[in-house]
Amino acid sequence: MSYMHAYLDDFGKITVTVSRKFYNGKSDSFYITANKGYMSDLVITMIEEYLDEVKYHLSCPLTLQAATAYMVHDNHGLAVPLSKRMIVRTKKFNETYEYDGDDLGASYHRWHTDFALWAPTAAAVTLRVRNDNKVRAYNMERGDKGVWRVSVIGDLKHATYTYLVDRNGVIAESLDPYALSSSGNGRESAVIDLSEIEKIEDYPLAKRISGVDAVIYEANVRDMTSHPNTGTKAHGTFAALAEEGTTFRDMPTGLDYLASLGVTHVQLMPVMDYATVDEFHVNKNYNWGYDPAQYLTLEGSYSSDPDDPYARMKEMRKMVCMMHKKGMRVNLDVVFNHMYSDEGSPFDSSMPYYFFRYNASGHSSNGSFCGNDFSSEQPMARRYIVHCIKKLMEIYHVDGFRFDLMGILDVETMNQIVATARQINPDVMIYGEGWDLPTMLEPEKKANILNQGKMPGVGHFNDYFRDVLKGRTSDDQKYDRGYCTGDLAQAFGALSGLVANVLKEPYFWRFTEPDQSINGPETHDNGTVWDKMHFSNANEDRATRQKRQKMLIACTLVAQGVPFIHAGMEFCGTKNDNFNSFNAGDAINQMDWVRAEINEEIIDFTRKCIAMRRRCEGFRLKSAKEIGEKVRLYVDDSIVFYNISHEQGDMKQLKVIINPTFNTKHYSFEEDWRIIMDEEGRSHEMTGRQFTVPQLSVYVLVHEEHKKTETQERQGK
Ligand code: CA
Repeated sequence: MSYMHAYLDDFGKITVTVSRKFYNGKSDSFYITANKGYMSDLVITMIEEYLDEVKYHLSCPLTLQAATAYMVHDNHGLAVPLSKRMIVRTKKFNETYEYDGDDLGASYHRWHTDFALWAPTAAAVTLRVRNDNKVRAYNMERGDKGVWRVSVIGDLKHATYTYLVDRNGVIAESLDPYALSSSGNGRESAVIDLSEIEKIEDYPLAKRISGVDAVIYEANVRDMTSHPNTGTKAHGTFAALAEEGTTFRDMPTGLDYLASLGVTHVQLMPVMDYATVDEFHVNKNYNWGYDPAQYLTLEGSYSSDPDDPYARMKEMRKMVCMMHKKGMRVNLDVVFNHMYSDEGSPFDSSMPYYFFRYNASGHSSNGSFCGNDFSSEQPMARRYIVHCIKKLMEIYHVDGFRFDLMGILDVETMNQIVATARQINPDVMIYGEGWDLPTMLEPEKKANILNQGKMPGVGHFNDYFRDVLKGRTSDDQKYDRGYCTGDLAQAFGALSGLVANVLKEPYFWRFTEPDQSINGPETHDNGTVWDKMHFSNANEDRATRQKRQKMLIACTLVAQGVPFIHAGMEFCGTKNDNFNSFNAGDAINQMDWVRAEINEEIIDFTRKCIAMRRRCEGFRLKSAKEIGEKVRLYVDDSIVFYNISHEQGDMKQLKVIINPTFNTKHYSFEEDWRIIMDEEGRSHEMTGRQFTVPQLSVYVLVHEEHKKTETQERQGK
């Protein structure tokens, strides 16, 4: 514990704090030294007096070098290293040191491996390589833009390494932020020969798909196969989720279960390295992984061998390829907004103060409520995120990304991500949690829903849709109901949700285009729909709640925008009223195949809803303009009518009738209609003009005109 701290906060500007415990914080003069000794006196420009310390603003008449280690001394003989702090966040610093090369990290070649670390404020960097159980150190050389480099001769295919970074007077041992893998529990970064991963063959996906054509299913790698009845050889790993042909009794489990639903995209909860699960003792604790430790290295607890850096990569790639084989794409949940800890992270170790946000006095910005906000607006931080997205797509062939607390990141970063990712795959999905969060970034730069118009092609979780249909969702709102759970007063609000909030007055407008609205009543956060109804609909029996569950599933799949289903919602999944189960263990979070079997009828209903959506283009209108022209909405006696005039073959119009009342409703129409979804999800063959819509159900009707086929026309029939 030092009585004095000295920070370089801008070019020529130093801030010094002196504790009241040392001469009551009073120093009369300061001077600066480097390794050759005395350099210059510092000029006190302002003094701020606080209860515990005195803060001195000093100006330095010399031009200081980023990579030189300096000491600041006071007149009582105290001497401390000068930390390069806010200077690394200045425009001038960024203009001087932004590096646009793509060779950072360890580049493997058969006869040598090249290492490069961006660390402009380091005074020295040493590379420490472990190969064949021998450890060797190499001095790195500082080059252009503050990039430190060394080329190590020999075959380093199975080597691991760390950097020793001498910065701000302290030598920090650091993982490589650009490392593609590591040894177990992130002890050391690993050199990777990517040709080993590229050998695993992918299965080409037949058709293009994008935006509103997607049906996203949110799953967790561990939870999908952790239940003892899953029938996989391993449990809770990438490899287990790549296994075909697994069943519980006659029901598919794991990968085959996902495929059986008909979803187009599986969104995996975090798979990049996180901190709180011991990778060698995976049953000791449980965590979803929103506590990232590394961004390009996969989580080792999902690997068959956490200490083999290649194993996790091969198994992940194989899993993604198997999803592709089954016709499903894979979106990754990426947590760039904060880290498990900024201190000790590869970023803080190599380049302190650069990659996280701070206020003017050097305290961490905390909009993520996790103690540190990633500073995506800093040029090298932005480049880093874009680099990770590109690499994850290239190495693992993933198809999209869900950004955790996207509202912490900035608009420009999200737009660069879209541009870069689309060059690799034009159908890539980019979306996230666009909440407005109190992070230290100008409001107009935050990547949140309020700025959706500045980020075309970026989707946002639509909490309006969720709240109006299911009821508000946080802990103190458990008793709130939505339209489908019995608050009929929300019928008009439901209309706005059903059209992805892209229509203006009298509706509630929120999004420019429908592919920006991710519509899900339930996600991994908060309680499940089923558990919420335990509170909000406590007076209702199980059968009634099951009908409400089905209504929410149906509404999600007929709404414009992008439907989103959280794993287990299709079988009334429960977490036993746990409303924040991030570390609650397998018993709470696992896919419960026994419960799935009990509620198989609702799974089947979900499958039928998904299949119907994928058959009917009318639920997947591509633009707000088209929705404005083709959709008509109204409420009649608390019943929502949602009509879509979209021609597709014989189909002329679709009509959705939502009845969340306890009354059976009778309707007659002037045209012939046919039911394509009833309360059991069934499609009927007969057309008619009179229909009965039972209580607590969603009906979908189609109006068709059967044109003669081309052959019939030619034959004059
Ligand atoms: Ca880990």
